[in-house]
Amino acid sequence: MQYDVIIIGAGPGGIFSAYELTKKRPELKIAVFEAGHELDRRHCPIDGKKIKSCIQCPTCSIMNGFGGAGAFSDGKYNITNDFGGTLYEYIGKEKAIQLMHYVDEINMEYGGAGTKMYSTAGSEFKKICMQNKLQLLDASVRHLGTDVNYVVLGNLYRYLKEKVTFYFDTPIQKLEQQDGSYRVYFAQGTAKAEQCIISVGRSGSKWMENVCREMNIPTSSNRVDLGVRVELPAVIFSHLTDKLYESKIVYRTEKFEDRVRTFCMNPYGIVVNENTDGIVTVNGHSFDDPSLRTENTNFALLVSKHFSEPFKDSNGYGESIARLSNMLGGGVIVQRFGDLERGRRSTRVRIEEGMVRPTLAATPGDLSLVLPKRILDGIIEMIYALDKIAPGTANDDTLLYGVEVKFYNMEVELDENLETNYKGLYVIGDGSGVTHSLSHASASGVYVAERIAQER
Ligand SMILES: Cc1cc2nc3c(=O)[nH]c(=O)nc-3n(C[C@H](O)[C@H](O)[C@H](O)COP(=O)(O)OP(=O)(O)OC[C@H]3O[C@@H](n4cnc5c(N)ncnc54)[C@H](O)[C@@H]3O)c2cc1C
Repeated sequence: MQYDVIIIGAGPGGIFSAYELTKKRPELKIAVFEAGHELDRRHCPIDGKKIKSCIQCPTCSIMNGFGGAGAFSDGKYNITNDFGGTLYEYIGKEKAIQLMHYVDEINMEYGGAGTKMYSTAGSEFKKICMQNKLQLLDASVRHLGTDVNYVVLGNLYRYLKEKVTFYFDTPIQKLEQQDGSYRVYFAQGTAKAEQCIISVGRSGSKWMENVCREMNIPTSSNRVDLGVRVELPAVIFSHLTDKLYESKIVYRTEKFEDRVRTFCMNPYGIVVNENTDGIVTVNGHSFDDPSLRTENTNFALLVSKHFSEPFKDSNGYGESIARLSNMLGGGVIVQRFGDLERGRRSTRVRIEEGMVRPTLAATPGDLSLVLPKRILDGIIEMIYALDKIAPGTANDDTLLYGVEVKFYNMEVELDENLETNYKGLYVIGDGSGVTHSLSHASASGVYVAERIAQER
């Protein structure tokens, strides 16, 4: 069990570092350890009929396994330094964009060809947003869709498995430095390599914290994003989504001057549950295949909460609020915007009588009992601001699902090579706290592989 490079985690970060290493240094012996299953063994048991809500599987097939958290995602690769992570702060803006384009080329080569690239450049919506106190962020977006994203991952896996040794269902329990090498421990044994790339994503954040604590790798953590997922008839946003697909819009609230932003827009998509360490929150998907489309569009509205000293546990704060919604609703809560404005809970009957047919079976309830006032006020203000550029957003029947939480991993202290204070130990992707997206996580994987290929 002696390798040249060990990669922990087979999400986009791990996959792209493995891919690039096989291209640049085919002679290297590489092992990838993954807590979850192989791609075609990943199945979430929730079918909406027999199993309606999360049954807490030992390994969550949505978050873990080949493809990582991104495997069943909408496959939106945003090529931008404006959001999705701060990789550019380590490697420079030009390099970051160049690598994101490179990742896009590989995705096209492995089954993504023919999918659409959208861009906000020169969009007339920038002006319309500005006139309504909204800011449309710049980005090019490759939308693979959940279906094509899965095909690309399958093709990448078929290529990689001939060149790399994969260990699935093998969570790494412990990592140690021994005589300048790295030894990983798992249930069935141990393995060793001179270089180790950690890419454990959001689901591995607690594990990452332990590693940093045990190895004295400095970290910091102070941010969490909280909010709701909005679902409305797709026609209300179609003038934006048909042209831009995903519009990242930011609003500064009048009351508290907080930043509220749209996040993860899914035209004609579905709202889904997300399980992070047993806490059920909400997310969304959409499909490239027109036959799988729904009549609705969904997107998140998130308020960023930055904490200052002495409070350090921003994720704990987000978790507590998500737990509260799980306690009241047994999972995700759904509420009509009109009910929220009138200070009353939604009921099954009120939702059934509404115009918007929910795509997720959530519990009708009252989000004002869950979300802090400041956050809820910010969301309501932004819904009215969006109503000016997409009339109908503030309709009574617009559905709000809660809570959506975007946990940020604590940031691991890394140098310009994404290397820790230990030589040969790299941390990439969302687990590093540096990236929060498919394109940034993948680009960070390529970057570290380039560094290793050059050095060895
Ligand atoms: C439902 C959903 C939809 C999304 N949609 C989009 C989107 O459209 N666009 C976008 O840019 N981003 C999206 N994201 C976010 C995106 O998926 C992540 O930013 C991206 O997957 C991060 O890649 P990563 O490799 O850093 O981590 P991950 O993808 O989280 O992969 C980490 C892997 O490490 C494994 N692991 C963890 N701990 C261990 C351990 N101790 N030992 C071994 N293996 C371990 C996990 O099982 C996992 O497979 C979405 C996320 C979700 C959940």
